[in-house]
Amino acid sequence: MTDGNGNDTILLAHGGGGELSDRLVREEILSRFPSRELARLADSAVIDFPGSRLALTTDGYVVRPLFFRGGDIGRLCVAGTVNDLLMSGATPLALSLGVIVRDGFPMGDFRRILDSVAATAAEAGVQIVTGDTKTVGHNAADGIFLTTAGVGVVPEGRRLDYAAAQPGDAVLVSGTLGDHGIAIMSERQQLGFTSAIASDAAPLVEPVAALLAAAPATRCLKDPTRGGLAAALNEIARASGCSIILEESQVPVREAVAGACDLLGLDVLNVANEGKCVAIVPPDQAEAALAALRSTRYGREAARVGRVEAGKPLVVGVNDLGGRRLIEMPYGEQLPRIC
Ligand code: MG
Repeated sequence: MTDGNGNDTILLAHGGGGELSDRLVREEILSRFPSRELARLADSAVIDFPGSRLALTTDGYVVRPLFFRGGDIGRLCVAGTVNDLLMSGATPLALSLGVIVRDGFPMGDFRRILDSVAATAAEAGVQIVTGDTKTVGHNAADGIFLTTAGVGVVPEGRRLDYAAAQPGDAVLVSGTLGDHGIAIMSERQQLGFTSAIASDAAPLVEPVAALLAAAPATRCLKDPTRGGLAAALNEIARASGCSIILEESQVPVREAVAGACDLLGLDVLNVANEGKCVAIVPPDQAEAALAALRSTRYGREAARVGRVEAGKPLVVGVNDLGGRRLIEMPYGEQLPRIC
């Protein structure tokens, strides 16, 4: 992509979590940092460390608005980082917090965001153990940005890997889809009819622990954040070399979210989530996994939504009438600054 002078530029769409993001990461980033662990493009890197396996992840948060129904940038930054550790099978231990805030930012909002970081970290059972604060001039940023790193430990014998999905495995989701993306969109566009929709931003410590206890042979976990369930399943399909069949009528979606998607012309499968996970589980442990998820606060609406099959690494949606469609990796940016 080029600007008016014929120069290559970064596009908002490069941050969307879809095909364009993937290309930027592979061509510009992976090519410069030769690491097998980085090349897995998992939610966290897992590093062999004498005596244990450490998980490490990092994230930046630029969401607008800063406060929204169901959460704020502070809750989002802890939930997102903790969830990336959990998706790699790690027990989250500690987080760093970097703050970049502009001159003139209201102190009341600053305190409210930090209080939310503290409350969410307490809920997740992690501590903020190091940090950094930078201020920039009035015009250098439009408010506040947060960055985090998260460290966790992966228990002995646990290996979660997208490439481990096998034909016959069940595909589970931990709850309703699309809540975060639609909550943000409705705040920005002031859509009155969506007052029933709140972001799902939450740390998934409890549901993931219950799931892995009930289904220890779980192949992999993935949080369907930017790019939604469509991107998450396509990544698993590509890494495992298997097809994923999605029973579209089984995908849990709140009525208000489905209505908003219809109105806005969005496919809920592409909409971001911030408190959900996808689990690929062997068939003999799928029912136990589902029951375990449903026994937890953030997993009550968990559902079995599909299966892994031998075939091309594609995601295929099937409806109740037997109709089939290809569910593609989203291309660019559906909504910038969603997390
Ligand atoms: Mg992730």
